[in-house]
Amino acid sequence: MTQVFHRHCHSDLPFATRGEGAYIYDQSGKAYLDASGGAAVSCLGHNHAGVRAALHAQIDQLAYAHSSFFTTEVAENLASRLTDKAPGSLNHVYFVSGGSEAVESALKLARQYFVETGEPQRTRFIARRQSYHGNTLGALAVGGNAWRRAPFSPLLMPAEHIAPCYPYRDQQPDESLHDYGQRVANELEQRLLTVGPETVIAFIAEPVVGATAGALAPVEGYYKRIREICDRYGILLILDEVMCGMGRTGTLFAHEQDGIEADLVTIAKGLGAGYQPIGAMLASDRIYDAISEGSGFFQHGHTYMAHATAMAGSLAVMDAFEKDGVLARVAPMGEALDQRLRNRFGDHPHVGDIRGRGLFQALELVHNRDSKKPFDSRSKLDKRIKAEAMQLGLMCYPMAGTIDGQRGHHILLAPPFIINEEQLDELTDKLYQAVDKITREALK
Ligand code: PLP
Repeated sequence: MTQVFHRHCHSDLPFATRGEGAYIYDQSGKAYLDASGGAAVSCLGHNHAGVRAALHAQIDQLAYAHSSFFTTEVAENLASRLTDKAPGSLNHVYFVSGGSEAVESALKLARQYFVETGEPQRTRFIARRQSYHGNTLGALAVGGNAWRRAPFSPLLMPAEHIAPCYPYRDQQPDESLHDYGQRVANELEQRLLTVGPETVIAFIAEPVVGATAGALAPVEGYYKRIREICDRYGILLILDEVMCGMGRTGTLFAHEQDGIEADLVTIAKGLGAGYQPIGAMLASDRIYDAISEGSGFFQHGHTYMAHATAMAGSLAVMDAFEKDGVLARVAPMGEALDQRLRNRFGDHPHVGDIRGRGLFQALELVHNRDSKKPFDSRSKLDKRIKAEAMQLGLMCYPMAGTIDGQRGHHILLAPPFIINEEQLDELTDKLYQAVDKITREALK
């Protein structure tokens, strides 16, 4: 029995006692290579001297001042650092404390935008299957795994779900990647026409899908077509970069690589790199101006918005990205990881797909490579691989997704941007041992 509630489903966890670089150490001194950044959070690794110093300095001056009484230099600076880099006119940042809060803020701001611009009949969202947007009720409603929503479904607002862009599963044999991307993007238009485009507030999607589908990047042209459809029917585009943003895919914002502009973008995780809880929503001029010229007030708010210590920590993260060249490491180290995964797992009988962008990569596990049949969910492959990897001193992020009503499995990798070649070798070796052993056992 434990008094820490969340441990009821994780009964035998080691105690984490310290972290250094790419490793976390437990009470016995055992090292764990953090190849998942926890859940794609710890992008600078652990115990980063610059972030630590910035946090100390801020706490020594002022830890917290409520955002309705004061602003702070750190909040103003962080907002301009982010908006300077953001594509399009995402010039306004709303700071919160995590990913779900950022998504809730975006959903509510999108709704309020239409209330204030005279289209209150817009009440629903369209999202995608195999997506995750958080666990609060709004974020859960748009999230794309029916089993997560099931116990709460009577409490959730209306949301429609279309197919994700998932070529490994859905591309037809006679179809080019480009044509596949257009076909699957057109599902948005079809769904809009079915439900009535005038009833829809926004389409929300993760530019590169994280936990629920495993580093699933869009094919070229997919998001351009999505943007066209949103514009044609006057709906907003919300991009959830809570997991894939903040440099994880090689650019500060993942959707920079898709050549599109969003109306609202959410970030969290890598924004604080785990040193403080923080999230943010970026809003475009069009949305901000409508609220400013309308009621003048976004009807939302949280106690810890723009928390000074969290702001200072994130500014130091941005400094490390830019001044220390950490962000520039993501693309080459991502390629090095991709190469190692292909060398080790390319012929593995139970690895169906190896995919990702930057230091956001995944293996999709299959029972049979030819038929792409997933492992049975009763195999509990995700939990067993995670446990085996932890035994070996490796943190990775195996998940059971949902494929055609069946649960499939993938392993997400999101190592810190400071990872080196030797640590990539260690990652690949340990991962291979865990995957090979558990997939073989699952067949028995
Ligand atoms: N959106 C995405 C894409 C996520 O991956 C997550 C968390 O994994 C969230 C939202 C929710 O973030 P949080 O767990 O910080 O509430």
